[in-house]
Parts: sequence; C-alpha cells; structure tokens
Amino acid sequence: MANFDVVVIGAGPAGYIAAIRAAQLGLSTACIDEWRGADGKAALGGTCTNAGCIPSKALLQSSENFEQAGHHFAEHGVKVKGVELDLAQMLKRKDKVVKASNDGIAYLFRKNKIAFFHGRAGFAGKRDAGYEVAVAGAKPEAVLARHVIIATGSNPRALPGAAFDEDRILSNSGALAIPEVPKRLGVIGAGVIGLEMGSVWRRLGAEVTILEALPEFLGAADETIAREAAKVFAKQGLAIQLGVKITKVTVSKKNVTVQYTAPGNSTKILECDRLVVSIGRVPNTEGLNGATVGLRIDERGFIGVDDECRTNLAGVWAIGDVVRGPMLAHKGEEEGVTVAERIAGQRAHLDYNTIPWVIYTTPEIAWVGKTEQQLKAEGVEYRAGMFPFSANARARALGDTSGLVKVLAHAKNDAILGVHILGAYASELIAEAVVAMEFRGSSEDIGMIVHAHPSLSEAMKDAALAVGKRALNI
Ligand SMILES: Cc1cc2nc3c(=O)[nH]c(=O)nc-3n(C[C@H](O)[C@H](O)[C@H](O)COP(=O)(O)OP(=O)(O)OC[C@H]3O[C@@H](n4cnc5c(N)ncnc54)[C@H](O)[C@@H]3O)c2cc1C
Repeated sequence: MANFDVVVIGAGPAGYIAAIRAAQLGLSTACIDEWRGADGKAALGGTCTNAGCIPSKALLQSSENFEQAGHHFAEHGVKVKGVELDLAQMLKRKDKVVKASNDGIAYLFRKNKIAFFHGRAGFAGKRDAGYEVAVAGAKPEAVLARHVIIATGSNPRALPGAAFDEDRILSNSGALAIPEVPKRLGVIGAGVIGLEMGSVWRRLGAEVTILEALPEFLGAADETIAREAAKVFAKQGLAIQLGVKITKVTVSKKNVTVQYTAPGNSTKILECDRLVVSIGRVPNTEGLNGATVGLRIDERGFIGVDDECRTNLAGVWAIGDVVRGPMLAHKGEEEGVTVAERIAGQRAHLDYNTIPWVIYTTPEIAWVGKTEQQLKAEGVEYRAGMFPFSANARARALGDTSGLVKVLAHAKNDAILGVHILGAYASELIAEAVVAMEFRGSSEDIGMIVHAHPSLSEAMKDAALAVGKRALNI
C-alpha cells in the first residue's frame, strides 16, 4: 500500500491548493478525486472549476458581450448589424475555458510531484502509522496517510418535492448548460448563484423571474448596496419577488409550474420552461465512511472543525465548503494553505474577517468586512463615506456609471471596518480594501494613497475621503 505524509480527499480549490502547498513544503502528497468530465476522465478542480466559479464567469462574460454588442455598442458609435447568438459556440467556449483549468491543475500536480488517484475515497481504518483510505475507482486501491485533509466540498440543495432532473429542474450544473435559451426561466433563490445564472439567461433573451423566500433582497450585503442593486436589476428586467413561499412544483414534458404564496398570503403561479433551483448548498460527506474512524459530523452535516480546521481525529483535517464558514473558493484555498503549513509544523493564520465576497452581476457587487446594519446591531460607533461612480470620470468613459463605493470606518480610530462596492469591476476593486484591512489601515490611509487617474479605483479614494467629509470630486 502506498504511504504518504498527506492524503487530500477532493481536488476542488480547497483540496488542490492544500496538496500543492503540502508538496511545496516537502511532504509526500497524494490527492484523490472522483469528478468525471463529459469524456468520463478525471476533471480536476471540483465544483469551482467544473460547475461553479469558472464556467459561470465564462458564460457571464460571453452573455455580457452579447448584450453589449446588441444594446450598447451603438452609444459608442459602433454600429453592429445582425448581432446573433450562437449558443452552441458560447457553451463550447465555456467548456474550453473549464478544460484549460482542469489541465492547468493536472500540470501543477505533475510539477509538484503529487500522486493523483481518480475515484471515490473513503476511510477504511486506522493503523499506528496513520489512516487507511480506500479509493473506489476503475482500479480499487488503498493508501496510507499520516495526515488526511478532507476537502469534499458541497452539493446543490434540492427543493423538497422538486428533485433535480437537469432538464426542467436545474441545479447549477444544468443551469450552465441549457441547450437553448428558455423563453421563460424561473429561478428559486436570489442569492449569488441565482442572480448570476438569472443574469446570464436574461442577457441571452430569457424572461427571468426570481423567487426569493426572504423578505429582504441580498440580506447579507450592506443595505445601501442591496437597495441600489435591486433598482438596477429591476431596470435590466430581472423580475425579483421577495418573501414568497413555494407550495408546489409540477413538471410536465414541456414546462414547470411553480405555485407559491406571495406576501399578503395570495396564491400565485409561475409558469416557466425551465426552473433553476439555487437555494443553497449542502456539505458533501457522502461515501467518506467517516463513521469507520469516528469522524464527527455536526447537526447540519458539516464536518466539525476548530478554528484551525482540525477535526475530532488527530491527523484528520477538513477545509472548504464541507466545513463552517462562507462557501467560497478562496476561503477554501486559504484554509488549504494554512492546514498544509500547520502539518509541516509552521504557524499559519487566516483572518476570516477579511474574506471578500463577490457577485458577478452587471454591475458587480463586492464587499469585505462589516455591513452598516451589522455595525448598528453591534453598537459600534462608525462613520460612513460614499462615492457614486456617476461622479467618476473613468466610469463615464467606460459607459457604466451605476453604483457606488461605501467605506465604513470606526468613529474613534478611523480603522476600516467594511467596504462595499456596487459597480463595474467591483471584483477587482475590492482587493484594495482587503489589503487595507489586513494591514489595519484607516480610511485616511486610503484617502492619502495616490490612485491612478482616470481609474475606477479613484472612487475608493473619494469614498474613503468622504468618511472625513472631504471627498474631492463631489
Ligand atoms: C454556480 C456557482 C458559481 C460559483 N461562483 C463562485 C465564485 O465566483 N467565487 C467563489 O469564491 N465561489 C464560487 N462558488 C462556490 C465555489 O464553487 C465553492 O465554494 C468551491 O468550489 C468549494 O471548494 P471545495 O474545494 O471545498 O469543494 P468542491 O469544489 O466542491 O470540490 C470537492 C471535490 O471533492 C470531490 N469529492 C467529494 N467527495 C469525494 C470522495 N469521497 N472521494 C473523492 N472525491 C470526492 C468532488 O468530486 C469535488 O471534485 C460558486 C459555486 C457555484 C455552484
């Protein structure tokens, strides 16, 4: 039986990064993953690469290009006649982007001498030398590991009574591969995935209705940003209904009927050609055989870990979507790095307060740190500075002036407590706020830093200056 210092179960962003870092640190490392591509072969990268972050961003970019060419190029004096959608090509391009990422990870495994096993991994027992992990693949194998890092990710949560068939009722996987643009697309859940998938198909011509159970739109985001975003999305034609309760979903050969109660208790019906269900994700511990070694799973199905990703078993760690914390690729990646470093005897730290969140709609939404409503609830004294992109020259040149930057800083010591952005390239702009917060920066610090002109990042500087009521461009 092959013997390793570290065996990582799962090659999603949490697992493959953990494996690379462990190998870099001189630990003999193996990674086991069961994902199969359309060709039946291993497709490294987990949900993120195969059915999440990467394909969604590929389609968001392609659909945005289609919308720009069809509706906005003319404003720039660029006349394009007969803009047509070639959905098959768009989906093919998305698959190519995914494949390039799969291959990139395989290359990194070879480069770092990480042994890869394709198949489902499950604990087979505990020995003095470590844990025995069985791989149920084309060729059943077993490995012995001094340390096991579990990075088995998550699966889409199904709506009770409406199982995914990936034809009419779609999870993220089906939503990324609809073969023709549906005339009417229903989406259940106005979270990140629902908004991103709804945006893709609306841009391509679908009439999109999003039904959300919560009474507030984007409750996790800062309320100013959520309010502004709701207005922009409504203008784009995304119909979002809040506070609904789904009572019945009926599927026929050609369409889906969703019955729900709207606020005020009225019964409503949504008829659509296809329905995307994006109501959250559940941790995946299927097939791990955790009980064989006594692995603790909490009441919500997550693997129980401490602040440093240690499970209840010595030498067994868990990271990424399968443990508490935000289900974000970069959160899992950083946990992977810190766990590998701890196994190698190093001190490692991950600040969960500075993990950025991004929603890749148009305009994009990004934030880090506390929202204004959280600060109020916690009784923290703060000052807020805001700056709209309509007053930013680069945004005007770009032709997208929607949104704003909002900086929240402590009222006494000016430490940045949260930064919230709605606007073009918010996903890129938020990095400055993350760096500032990691270095315990103040709003004055950002206000004093030279920002290139003209750039969207100047809105960050002006919002920071606005905290001290001294924005220069408004
Ligand atoms: C549509 C969509 C868009 C998203 N967009 C973003 C985004 O833009 N940014 C972002 O940060 N996050 C995004 N996410 C979330 C992101 O994909 C996840 O947070 C991330 O993939 C979690 O990484 P992970 O490594 O923990 O698990 P996963 O990526 O789920 O990988 C787990 C891997 O483990 C394998 N596995 C599971 N059990 C076993 C077993 N017993 N044996 C062998 N292999 C096993 C699985 O096959 C899989 O390959 C998105 C998610 C979706 C669905």
